[in-house]
Amino acid sequence: MISYLDHNATTPIRPEVVDAMLPWLRDHYGNPNSVHSLGQRARAAVERAREQIAALLGAADASEIVLTSCGSESDALAVAGAAWQASDETKGKRRKIVTTKIEHDAIRVLTGQLRRRGFTALEAGCGAEGVVDAGELKAMLDDEAAVVSVMHANNETGVLQPVAEIAAAARAAGALVHTDAVQSLGKIKIDAKALGVDLLAVSGHKVNAPKGVGALYVRRGVRLAPLVAGHQEKNRRGGTENVASIVGFGLACELAGRELAVASPHALALRKRIEAGVLRVRGARLNGEAAQRLPNTAHFSFDGLDGHHLVVALDLEGICVSSGPACSSGASMPSHVLTAMGVPAGLATGSMRVSVGWGSTDADADRLLAVLPKAVEKLRAAAVAA
Ligand code: PLP
Repeated sequence: MISYLDHNATTPIRPEVVDAMLPWLRDHYGNPNSVHSLGQRARAAVERAREQIAALLGAADASEIVLTSCGSESDALAVAGAAWQASDETKGKRRKIVTTKIEHDAIRVLTGQLRRRGFTALEAGCGAEGVVDAGELKAMLDDEAAVVSVMHANNETGVLQPVAEIAAAARAAGALVHTDAVQSLGKIKIDAKALGVDLLAVSGHKVNAPKGVGALYVRRGVRLAPLVAGHQEKNRRGGTENVASIVGFGLACELAGRELAVASPHALALRKRIEAGVLRVRGARLNGEAAQRLPNTAHFSFDGLDGHHLVVALDLEGICVSSGPACSSGASMPSHVLTAMGVPAGLATGSMRVSVGWGSTDADADRLLAVLPKAVEKLRAAAVAA
């Protein structure tokens, strides 16, 4: 038996979602861009899913949803697409990208690439609890800013970010605003309109749909330079649509929206049970403890051990959690998020992220809590002996 407590990495596909997808893999193989009835049947399924996704994001209209291959592509289309477009429209005046030190690599690596191609890319820091410093970010805004990108919730700590406040300031400065909402989808309410953002990225596999499908909310009237050429998605993203996965993503969004009022408190109760138990382990610390966080995510550090080794030790007991990034030798490296929060390297490398989700039970939490104290002490003893 496996206790899967790594829902921020990916989620199991719900059986209803698999069932909804199968006919689109097996029988209805039409291209949604074809005129004949087989094609139009696929088109109708894609458009239904677009509406289901739009509803969960608080979009004004389904036409604001661009279907993509993943969250990373949605982030890239938002940030590179907005930066290129703004630079073209202003004859190179708006070439500044403002983001943060705690973004996912889908944004960080991309802004590094854009920097090497002549864009200015600035990163605001965060406080000790992992909340982006909105004041520092706002001071980076001026009439050269093309796009601002701030994640909705951090994937490691679960800490929620002041997106609405930053969005208001960025739009006042004439920049487009993007938020990476990949981790918040299905865990807390998302309302693109209320957040005041122009662009918002999500991904299917974080919400019990398959991997390899994503979406980008593009507020009506916002223009982006496309990354994948072609006429699909109203010229915003070329490529024949992944009909089966889109159908699955749509249904998963509908289910998540319908169940949020129950799923969210259930996740929070589990998270609190886990936090109370883990914090009884000597030397354990909860990162971002005082900040508002996703209901499903708890991120801990333990002194005197390597988080990667802890993940392996728990895996041997049938428990799946995650640690931070690992170097080529397999030892943990301090994550950029914990570094930005000022967590000392020795603690940052001894990290464990626990993320619950659909299907998680008290029994999963209790299995982790039963095994963890011994695993931590064993690894500490081994580290001292080495
Ligand atoms: N953004 C965040 C915050 C994420 O956590 C992830 C995935 O872990 C992504 C983007 C990338 O999503 P995908 O795996 O669909 O490319």
